[in-house]
Amino acid sequence: MPERIERLAEQVAAAGFDWLLVSAPLNVRWLTGFTGSNAVALCPAAPGRNPAVLLTDFRYTEQAAEQAPSAWQIEIASNDLLGPGLAEKFPLSDVDQSGYGTVGYDDTHVTVAQLAALRTAFDQRADFEPLSGSVEALRVIKSAAEVEKIRAAANLADAAMVELLEVGIVGRSEVDVALALELAIRRLGAQELSFPPIVAAGAHGALPHAEPREVTIEKGQMVTLDWGARLDGYCSDCTRTFLTGELDEVQQRIYDVVLDAQLAAVAAVEAGPTGREVDLVARTIIDSAGFGENFGHGLGHGVGLDVHEAPRLSRKGDTPLEAGMIVTVEPGIYVAGLCGVRIEDLLLVTADGSEALSSLPKEPQVVI
Ligand code: ZN
Ligand code: ZN
Repeated sequence: MPERIERLAEQVAAAGFDWLLVSAPLNVRWLTGFTGSNAVALCPAAPGRNPAVLLTDFRYTEQAAEQAPSAWQIEIASNDLLGPGLAEKFPLSDVDQSGYGTVGYDDTHVTVAQLAALRTAFDQRADFEPLSGSVEALRVIKSAAEVEKIRAAANLADAAMVELLEVGIVGRSEVDVALALELAIRRLGAQELSFPPIVAAGAHGALPHAEPREVTIEKGQMVTLDWGARLDGYCSDCTRTFLTGELDEVQQRIYDVVLDAQLAAVAAVEAGPTGREVDLVARTIIDSAGFGENFGHGLGHGVGLDVHEAPRLSRKGDTPLEAGMIVTVEPGIYVAGLCGVRIEDLLLVTADGSEALSSLPKEPQVVI
């Protein structure tokens, strides 16, 4: 964990800041190990001279001491952390009494009201300037321990799906299937789902983020399920489109195109290309099959403590993939009024390829 402080400190210094105020809970967790609901971390640009501080409230005194390594100086504030609480506890070891210098805050997380409270509480003694994305940039490369946690979450999610398919989904409502999946995931040991599961049968599958309905899954439909488990804080994410009977020619064609695009994009994942380049591999196949208009979302995203995190595999993905990233590859074709197909795998990027963390078959699978 202290290594994470040092790597972040380098970024803070390079950006010309004196401190970084880390407030988004998952960033605080990644940096300090602390899982409580109310905390901020203060990372100095010069950790040799200034302490790294974890600020929380009375409820978490014991938990913070247990979870955060000794490199973190734990302070307990009695006031709003993003406001007077921080002003009370901000260490002054290295700076003179006239001020703290430039303090970066996460403008994608700190509210306008909180920023105003900070500025009032510090009364000119700190210059608060936006600095977001520093912790997220470090989070993209997973440590070996993080990879194992995500692998375990993916294995658990796969096992829950196998359980569900053994019982069957035909004749049950989408809501009932979503609930059964959630129960299986919880029973197998996950704390929660990565996100509410998607269960979308027939034409409902044309909505990429469909909400389960009180509608019965019939024979002869395509059913898209998108689900994930959160285990020890880390997420998994997987999608399969199952068949509940024979498909017509058009549906079969759509499935084949998505599968081709998915396999080609998976084969393109390795250290080196940008997210945009990998996205283009799948997009070109779907475009040239005549379904370009029906693939309106990006190819994939990073997964870690958050189910959607950097890097992006999309037209906006300008980050080159690096070994140690964990990303999804999930092309889809959605035809309004007819059906939708999406196939999503979770992949660990390696130097010369990728390793799949999800293990369920991708060939068209008829389920009961
Ligand atoms: Zn998904
Ligand atoms: Zn996804």
